[in-house]
Amino acid sequence: MSLKSLLIYLPAVMLCMGCQYTLSAQTNPDGKLRIIAFGAHPDDAELKAGGVATMWAAQGHKVKFVAMTNGDIGHFKEAGAPLANRRRAEVAECARIFGIETEVLDIHDGELMPTMENRRKVADLIRDWQADIVLCHRPYDYHPDHRYTGELVQDAAVVVVAPFFSTNTDPTKKNPVFMFYSDGFKKPYPFDPAIVVDIGSVAENKWDCIGAMPSQFADEHSWQASYRADIPKDPEGRKARILELVQRSNEAVADQYRDKLIELYGEEKGKSVKYAEAFELCQYGTQLSVEQLKALFPGF
Ligand SMILES: [Zn+2]
Repeated sequence: MSLKSLLIYLPAVMLCMGCQYTLSAQTNPDGKLRIIAFGAHPDDAELKAGGVATMWAAQGHKVKFVAMTNGDIGHFKEAGAPLANRRRAEVAECARIFGIETEVLDIHDGELMPTMENRRKVADLIRDWQADIVLCHRPYDYHPDHRYTGELVQDAAVVVVAPFFSTNTDPTKKNPVFMFYSDGFKKPYPFDPAIVVDIGSVAENKWDCIGAMPSQFADEHSWQASYRADIPKDPEGRKARILELVQRSNEAVADQYRDKLIELYGEEKGKSVKYAEAFELCQYGTQLSVEQLKALFPGF
């Protein structure tokens, strides 16, 4: 099949698979979902999807986080291989806490580009994982690594099912559901969640992961400590303050999308959710209704 004919063919596949997705997801050989989440740096997927990943993993679903870059310049005192090695170890500890797998690509922080080589890498990772659900940044972020991660995943969306796109991996058996992490950017349009997940039951796992990433969230010269003027100088105060900021950002997601939480969980529970993670449905890949998404996400 030529790429051109594949492009013509895909919308029909998407329509068809959209209506049957819940059924087909349950017919994976092991009866479990496979989820892959791309972050630009070794902390992004952890921050945006650590809670939902823990919940999926607890149900026996298979989750993998991929950092597209190695984070080797995101610190105010150290850089290069020693920093990349620290960060690889930090996300490995988060993966242990969450019960998931993790991989950090060896691309320099700040240098990710939407090249053909990287599109192949992303497509191969999705195909190799045989992903049912793919998570990534929206392509409208201030950081080019975040933007290009979103672009690369979207560019891979059209070829993950193509038999002859890659000789390294088999095509995915199904067209995955692609979803974006929440963000605060307003242009060209604000984040528009399709699903908002109550992560309260696993919030401690997420905070433990934040505590396991001192190069990002606790060092005197870590990214968070150095670029924010409101971070205390003493180690314990600094660590507590940064954790509080992360907790508040998860509270803010719940508060900002409270109407959606009430719609999804009902009035009583929707109003009581404290910490949440939210995901927008990408227009590429399988398209699902809210009810179909609730069947795939944990906690509904
Ligand atoms: Zn990042």
